[in-house]
Amino acid sequence: MSESVRTYDELERLVQKTYKNPDLESLRRAFALADKAHEGGVRLTGDPVISHPLAVAYRLAQMGLHLNVVIAGLLHDVVEDSSVTIDDLKNQFGEDIAGLVEAVTKLKHGIKYRGTERYAENMRKMFLAMASDVRVVFMKFADRLHNLETLYGQPKYKQERIARESLEIYAPIAGRLGMSEIKGELEDGSFAYLQPKEYERMKNIMDIKIREKGAYVSRIIDSVEKLLTGTSITEFQVHGRIKRLFSLHKKLNKYQGDLSKIYDLIAVRIIVGDVEECYMTLGLLHQHWRPVPGRIKDYIAQPKPNGYQSLHTTVFTENGEIVEFQIRTLEMHELAEYGIAAHWRYKEGSRKAVKNTRWMEELAQIQKELQSKKDFMEQLEVMKIDVFRDRIFVFTPQGDVIDLPEGATPIDFAYAIHTEVGNKCTAARVNEVMRNLDTTLQSGDIVEVITDKNRRGPNPDWLKFAKTRHARSKIKDSTRHTVKGWFAEVLKGREKAKK
Ligand code: MN
Repeated sequence: MSESVRTYDELERLVQKTYKNPDLESLRRAFALADKAHEGGVRLTGDPVISHPLAVAYRLAQMGLHLNVVIAGLLHDVVEDSSVTIDDLKNQFGEDIAGLVEAVTKLKHGIKYRGTERYAENMRKMFLAMASDVRVVFMKFADRLHNLETLYGQPKYKQERIARESLEIYAPIAGRLGMSEIKGELEDGSFAYLQPKEYERMKNIMDIKIREKGAYVSRIIDSVEKLLTGTSITEFQVHGRIKRLFSLHKKLNKYQGDLSKIYDLIAVRIIVGDVEECYMTLGLLHQHWRPVPGRIKDYIAQPKPNGYQSLHTTVFTENGEIVEFQIRTLEMHELAEYGIAAHWRYKEGSRKAVKNTRWMEELAQIQKELQSKKDFMEQLEVMKIDVFRDRIFVFTPQGDVIDLPEGATPIDFAYAIHTEVGNKCTAARVNEVMRNLDTTLQSGDIVEVITDKNRRGPNPDWLKFAKTRHARSKIKDSTRHTVKGWFAEVLKGREKAKK
């Protein structure tokens, strides 16, 4: 067994530490159920299967998300791996937890790898589709992070695929949501598999730098603590931060490999109580050390598009060394690490209100960010987000995403795929269950249209429940043809009769 495997006791201890009056009884029951469901299963790493949901739940608890999300994390692979159903979970853990597990399970089935381009497009849409409950996205990240951590157990082709997906799809989404900690982990975890040599090179550079500068930065941290002690700033934290490897790799490329241009290999992070203290700290640093010109950045007054706030400055220290500082409040710090997840931390009780308003704000933010880019594809995305509110996103069994208006039915879906599929459709399977053609589809549904090639054409009654203009006009066109055809035949018949 690998040493990084978490035990249930560790999870429970973390939960007790993080949450006020946690429902440990449900947590225990969830673990017992998951443990039994995955009993005897072994992952390719050689660890028992239960180690995976435990790690996912542990991560979600570290993020401080609502305990229901942690419990759902324990249960997230249960429906797939055993005979336990969503209904069982509903009965034993309630609607909310069962709903989360259902959403995560669905997401897994909706997605199949079919080339990076289309896959990326699908994934972005899917994440938007899941925006109605952003907690599902956090669960997906926690799941993916653990799969990356244990990727060494997988065969090579799978390593490559999972790493690429993580780097090209998951990491940018984490970035957009302002979850820089998770973005960084996703990037470095993938980088190690996609460019192992370059990864090693970056690792060596950092190792050398840490050996060279580590002790020195420790002294700088001490000096900062001394500077702040005795001022009106009573609560502060100062620590060193080491640049992530993929981030270093990108920056080095930007500077043609010139390491001397990169000042934030090791930065010092100062966390204080409020905004006033941030500026005060900046002033104290500049009194003590001379700032490098052009390197002062006020992301408090002017936050980055994803909401990031901090003051940055770079200074010349005593022996001509250059050190970068990042100054922020605890709230800004949590936001920088956890992004929109930060709004979800410790907010028991008021979950719904927080969820909806925050998420909508976040979408607005993403829109703003995209509008500032002139890229045409990005603009297309903006348009999709604009109409997002009354749209649903459903999937083909192959994982393609079809977006439809709210209230759409399998008929709309069929016509969205192809006119012929619409004209010849006779029934639909929604999430593997046969449904009537007038069933209202929900975001995340997987829809399969059953066609009959002998079918003559659409039924005019379909107009009663077809929602899209496209489907309606195709049905009308086609029925008009049929009537015309029939009419023509009758006329022909009369002609014949006359003769
Ligand atoms: Mn999983």
